[in-house]
Amino acid sequence: MRNIFCSLCGVILDPVHRGQTPSEHLSWIQKIRAVQSTLGTSIPLVTGLGYLNDSLELVAPSDEELQFHNLVDELETYPLYKTPNRFRAFTFHDACWR
Ligand SMILES: [Zn+2]
Repeated sequence: MRNIFCSLCGVILDPVHRGQTPSEHLSWIQKIRAVQSTLGTSIPLVTGLGYLNDSLELVAPSDEELQFHNLVDELETYPLYKTPNRFRAFTFHDACWR
C-alpha cells in the first residue's frame, strides 16, 4: 500500500486498519483533514475531522466544524489522488492544523 504523509509535518497519515472501528479514540496520526482545491475555480475549503479508509480515501464531513465520529450520514469520501477536472485534496493531521 502506498504511504501518504502529512503536508505540514511530514509524518505518515495512518489509515484505519481492517477491523478497526473509526472512533474518537483513533490516534493523532489517524485523525485527518484536507484542504480541497478546485484548481483555482473557487476558494479552497478545509474539511471537517475525518480519517483515511483502507482504500486511502479521506472520509470526513465537508463542514470544518464537524467531526466524523458524531456523524453517519453526512460523511463525504475524498479521493486523495488527482483525477481530471475534480477536486484535489491535500491532507494533514488534525493536530498539525490546530
Ligand atoms: Zn502532521
